[in-house]
Amino acid sequence: MREIGHFIGGKHVKGAGRTSDVFQPMTGEVIGKVALATKAEVRAAVENAKAAQPAWAATNPQRRARVMFKFLELVARDNEKLAELLAREHGKTIPDAKGDIQRGVEVVEFACGIPHLMKGEYTESAGAGIDLYSMRQPLGVVAGITPFNFPAMIPMWKFAPAIACGNAFILKPSERDPGVPMLLAELMIEAGLPAGILNVVNGDKEAVDGILDDPDIRAIGFVGSTPIAEYIYTRGTASGKRVQCFGGAKNHMIVMPDADMDQVVDALIGAGYGAAGERCMAISVAVPVGKKTADELVGRLIPRVESLKIGPSTSADADFGPMITKAHLEKVKNYVEIGVKEGAKLKVDGRGFKMQGYENGFYMGGCLFDEVKPDMRIYKEEIFGPVLSVVRAKDYQEGLDLANKHEYGNGVAIFTRDGDAARDFASRVEVGMVGINFAIPVPLAYHTFGGWKKSVFGDLNQHGPDSVRFYTKTKTVTSRWPSGVKDGAEFTIPTMK
Ligand code: NAD
Repeated sequence: MREIGHFIGGKHVKGAGRTSDVFQPMTGEVIGKVALATKAEVRAAVENAKAAQPAWAATNPQRRARVMFKFLELVARDNEKLAELLAREHGKTIPDAKGDIQRGVEVVEFACGIPHLMKGEYTESAGAGIDLYSMRQPLGVVAGITPFNFPAMIPMWKFAPAIACGNAFILKPSERDPGVPMLLAELMIEAGLPAGILNVVNGDKEAVDGILDDPDIRAIGFVGSTPIAEYIYTRGTASGKRVQCFGGAKNHMIVMPDADMDQVVDALIGAGYGAAGERCMAISVAVPVGKKTADELVGRLIPRVESLKIGPSTSADADFGPMITKAHLEKVKNYVEIGVKEGAKLKVDGRGFKMQGYENGFYMGGCLFDEVKPDMRIYKEEIFGPVLSVVRAKDYQEGLDLANKHEYGNGVAIFTRDGDAARDFASRVEVGMVGINFAIPVPLAYHTFGGWKKSVFGDLNQHGPDSVRFYTKTKTVTSRWPSGVKDGAEFTIPTMK
């Protein structure tokens, strides 16, 4: 049985308090015990980070970038090992685990450009002999709290830009799959990062509250469910920290009558059921426009959902693997039951699926609901499983209104051949990330990622240029040379005459 402690000051440290089981979802076995940090253990990590940070901030940006370049080499070297561990602890398939690593790596590649990204601005002769310039400086010690569903990608989205900017980082990954974040921290040290700049404290609410209450932590980046996002944002900002929290989702795909139906069905199957629906950018609501479109769509989806290949994470040809925990599996199955009771039409019921040879694994088959209505709980709430709801709209405006009125606003897509409709949709939809004939519009690393409405708390997005803004503060200097100019006392606001 693996024991997973913390990674503090560049080395593994045993936990001092409670532990939690780490499961292997494909078999249902407990494969490890992860330490749950006390506030004192969080404090120990912060002390290490605080001691190491000034020297790291003073290290020139090209040297900081070199650590990132080296880290990329090491992640490539250990790619198989990382993907295997990720699939084992999370349950996603190995190819999907490699995608999880890859989308994190791309943000590390972005962070390699930090000497360019942190450059300030300069105005020569803003007044007589006066030059004006701004610089970006790191915040100090910052923290990231991350969810179970992308245990490689989201930790890298958080720590790579923060560390490249000269901060020290406390990562609190999900206690459900902590193995990969620990390996990533080891690789950062092997890449040449000074001890104390990246610390991993494992844990649950107690560790999170330790982070929220710590006076030396200047900023927190959170990704997870909306209720926890709101809690962290409220409590973190109340104590004066800079906080950005990315929450849950209910992503719609509007299917216009002129859409390419082969493309639509493939896109919905991949985006609805990939990773067992455990993605914040999964499509969970299909909105066909018009009865003919809806009938055709549902008719074509049914056989595709029925023939989805579910398998263990190690299977070479599974479409998706098990869910993260038994408790989450039961929660998703319960939502299906709720949907049936609410009167939605369950066209495909995957609840009875059993994986031969893996009877204790956390599997379920794909489910498809038709005639879901906006007042139903299965429409309003995030299910986070392989369950797709079809909500029929009479026209384009009704489809657009559905997406706009939903309290979540993370991702959305429209499938159409009509450029006018696509353009109007992109302009008027109240959602942060929009796909046009593209189902999972996760922006690339050099753009920024973030939803609207209840999918986000805070102002700036994650990764891309916003991450540099989030993890630095701007200082602006007005300087005058020669310094010996004597104007006498000026009682009016300087206007740079
Ligand atoms: P979660 O909210 O349960 O956990 C996220 C983090 O918060 C974990 O580190 C966890 O230990 C911690 N946490 C859990 N309960 C807490 C509590 N009561 N107090 C303090 N901290 C607590 O989320 P999850 O189940 O790990 O991840 C799935 C959720 O994350 C989904 O809602 C999904 O949509 C969302 N998500 C959002 C994005 C995005 O960018 N918007 C990306 C990925 C996942």
